[in-house]
Amino acid sequence: DLIIIRGRNHYPQDLEHTVEEASSLVRAGSVAAFAVDHDGRERVVVVAEIERGKRDAAEIAAAFEAIRSTLAREHEVAAEGIVLVRPNSIPKTSSGKIQRHACKRQFLDNALDVVEQHIGWLAPAAPLQPATAAAGMPRLARQRPVGDSARAHRPERELPQEIVQAVFDHVRRIAKERAGNLTLDSNIVELGLDSLERMEIVASLEESFGARFPEQVLPQIETCREVTEAILDHMPLDGAKRAETAKVVADVPSDTFRIEDFPEVRALEQNFAMVRNAGLENPYFSVHEGLTTDRTLIGGREMVSWATYNYLGMSGEPEVTLAAKAALDRYGTSVSASRLVSGEKVIHQELEREIARFVGTEDAITFVGGHATNETVIGHVVGPGDLVLHDALAHNSLLQGAVLSGARRRPFPHNDFDAAEKLLAQVRSQYRRVLVVIEGIYSMDGDFTDLPKFVGVAKRHKALLMVDEAHSIGVMGPRGRGIGEHFGVKPADVDLWMGTLSKALGSCGGYIAGSHALVRWLKYTVPGFVYSVGLPPAAAGAALGALRLLDRDPGRVAKLHDNARLFLRLAKEAGLDTGPSGGSAIVPVILGNSMNALRLSRALFARGINVQPILYPAVEEKAARLRFFITSRHTADQIRRTIAAMQEELAKIESTTGFSLSAM
Ligand code: PMP
Repeated sequence: DLIIIRGRNHYPQDLEHTVEEASSLVRAGSVAAFAVDHDGRERVVVVAEIERGKRDAAEIAAAFEAIRSTLAREHEVAAEGIVLVRPNSIPKTSSGKIQRHACKRQFLDNALDVVEQHIGWLAPAAPLQPATAAAGMPRLARQRPVGDSARAHRPERELPQEIVQAVFDHVRRIAKERAGNLTLDSNIVELGLDSLERMEIVASLEESFGARFPEQVLPQIETCREVTEAILDHMPLDGAKRAETAKVVADVPSDTFRIEDFPEVRALEQNFAMVRNAGLENPYFSVHEGLTTDRTLIGGREMVSWATYNYLGMSGEPEVTLAAKAALDRYGTSVSASRLVSGEKVIHQELEREIARFVGTEDAITFVGGHATNETVIGHVVGPGDLVLHDALAHNSLLQGAVLSGARRRPFPHNDFDAAEKLLAQVRSQYRRVLVVIEGIYSMDGDFTDLPKFVGVAKRHKALLMVDEAHSIGVMGPRGRGIGEHFGVKPADVDLWMGTLSKALGSCGGYIAGSHALVRWLKYTVPGFVYSVGLPPAAAGAALGALRLLDRDPGRVAKLHDNARLFLRLAKEAGLDTGPSGGSAIVPVILGNSMNALRLSRALFARGINVQPILYPAVEEKAARLRFFITSRHTADQIRRTIAAMQEELAKIESTTGFSLSAM
């Protein structure tokens, strides 16, 4: 069903959704978009049912215009055929789904129940006129909202004919038949050109007038009139104009083009200065000279380590290393292509089968990074007109995905399924898809959510549910199969099980486990997979080795649970604030401010204990903390010694700073 126009993929359902939103005349769920071949070129046609009732010509014309311009704005698609048809006349399945192929057949056979139609290739000389003078046009760069044309009511000025003609010529050269009958009011963006083509027009005008449009002007010019005026106003046609341009450039402040002067860069440098002035060392990028499990080597010194996600000690486990080496020997260091193109290896298939079996789903797909998995998958599964409903403490990768998708993003208070339910009860109907996103274990606090409650919320509101198991796969449940196993949730009750290979599985990469339909769809279309190299053989081999070992030896999960319970109990007994942590391998010790967290981490470091401080702005200032990642490899002795050392060092900090944890 994919519509491919000038090399760009468009999903018919996206176009249909846009058409539904474009005009109140269009009936919800009753639009079909498809492409037809005419004169050797694919052309987009939309067929839309309109609401019952008599319509005058102006209303119909406004609907045509709204559909045409909104599709051009939002998808850079020129709808060359727009057919408005009577209610209930588009062929649908018994469950109400649009039958695009049948609709296309009827269109080609002239069998649609047409109220009004505009077929561009039948009447190329009669382009639709804008419905209102103030309709505004999306600009050459990014979009501006419909109706936002500050200059729509400006008195028209005389424009030199030769410049107008030049503008028309340049537009026609690039837009070809899509230019139709150009007038001064023709909106270039709404011709259905893509952004590259629009920039080509800009570049060719600039070349022919021997100057550039000022950057701030580009977003404002959309119609041929506006382009002509911009040439008159801004192209340095004489010496005076040239000098003015030079002055504007001289006035550009350095914090816009010198990286050292960017405000964000300066703020970072100030943080370093603060740490230096306090006589402390930078706690980040500590260099480890060997393997990191329960221990690590820093500066030639062996230390107890609480700072990595090597929850099950799989990184460094001889059997896992051997599996990685075997994969390296057989497949080399890289798969050297996108898997879709020619990078697919047997080991990818084995690993994905194993992940699906482990999680309990029909299939799985792997990606080169965990962060990238969330970004690209969320960015792809939802889009404009959809909603991403996520926990307030969602990981950055989930938020980045939501931002990339263009969907609305709404957080609900941490773990609050009632709040999520209330929100959905209010807004579900306003959106096409809703994706509810939660995590198995939250990495700042080491707490987890009531998964069955979220399954219920998602089901009741016909939303998709995604669970990020970065910190729960290999960690929760008796066999380490994650939060689903912990709660006894049916794997099919979650639409997208996401996990990382980089933590309990001792490798690198991310996965999505779910239905055949989901995985197949992603494998053929999700950009972070289709346009990215496949997982390197060594990483795939390591993850596969870890999964197989875990399957045979779930005892290491039990050991991890014992260690985590002991750590939490002793920390609580020592009066430390461990926040809501429980039931996971992450225990925070909350210290009230960033400076204390930094001091305590350095003091522990001096005693041979490596633990990472989490400072503002990663968390609120008063929630600054040390964060302990517990592994199956830790010993009870390491746990006891660490808690005791923390108590002693905190007492010293309290006596020198007057700060009291018990007063918090
Ligand atoms: N999701 C969550 C919840 C995470 O904590 C992380 C990383 N810590 C990621 C995704 C990204 O995973 P990776 O580090 O494997 O890219």
